[in-house]
Amino acid sequence: MKLTEMREWLDKRDIHLTKSLGQNFLHDANQLERIVASAELTQADKILEIGPGLGPLTELLLQKAGEVLAIEKDGRLVKVLAERFGLVEKEGAPALSPAGEKTETAGPPGDPAHPDNLFLVHDDALEFLKREPRDWSEWKLVANLPYSVASPILVELAAGARAPKMIVATLQLEVAQRLMAQTDDDNYGILTLLVQLDFAPRGLFKIPPGCFFPSPDVDSACVILERRAQPLLPENLRASFVKIVKRAFSQRRKMMLKLLKQDWPKEKLEAAFAELKISPQERAEKLSLEQFIKITYLLTTSS
Ligand code: SAM
Repeated sequence: MKLTEMREWLDKRDIHLTKSLGQNFLHDANQLERIVASAELTQADKILEIGPGLGPLTELLLQKAGEVLAIEKDGRLVKVLAERFGLVEKEGAPALSPAGEKTETAGPPGDPAHPDNLFLVHDDALEFLKREPRDWSEWKLVANLPYSVASPILVELAAGARAPKMIVATLQLEVAQRLMAQTDDDNYGILTLLVQLDFAPRGLFKIPPGCFFPSPDVDSACVILERRAQPLLPENLRASFVKIVKRAFSQRRKMMLKLLKQDWPKEKLEAAFAELKISPQERAEKLSLEQFIKITYLLTTSS
């Protein structure tokens, strides 16, 4: 989707973009191709796209994947998407759906004018995800996320066995660096650990501001995260892990053991730190994901 086409749609419907919704549309063909290539799509893939906007990424996803479920908050853009992709409301269906039924004669697969594999929900994605917890484990998230809600959306989606198998998400560079961070980086913290518990970071690439319309004030990057083959923690210990991580980073410069004393008995903490050979003076940013997992085990088992 070229920049001229984006402007035409916006002019035609007299749409003035809303900054608070993070409406910076990606029009650079190379970057869009790179995002789609990173998701390694096949016709067997089901894609969740959050914030399709005018659909520049959506149209490429429709060509490569079996099914795309897109969630857009802005009703004006939902109308554009419905017109662009021929979607209609169907009785009893929770999403706008292809006008025709999926048939052998319904045009070439992925024909952008007549896709039979796009479903569009008009909703706030974060509220939708919280309200309708689903099993996303057979899905991939591929999205140019609204930056203001990117972190809560990722934390909501990434937790547990029902998380998507892959995340390819464009977001603010600063947040991307937190997702990719390793122990002792300045960017290493709560978001890193909550997401890396379930996802292995595969890498990121930067996307210059000029690739978007209008250009955002911040730098952007696309991150690639892959769900771990095996969970690193059983489900029943997850809440304790989250509590420990949040408390440990509640004051970055303070000793972690002192902070954790607000929630856990001193003797148990000292025994756990001694067993793991972690200095009682250590700060949270020096501990690896594996050490946080071990601390969770030691603090939550009785005796
Ligand atoms: N994917 C399009 C692209 O690459 O050009 C648009 C990306 S733009 C950064 C973010 C999109 O998310 C906008 O269309 C915006 O309206 C939508 N959006 C903002 N907040 C949202 C929310 N809470 N739930 C769903 N969509 C949201």
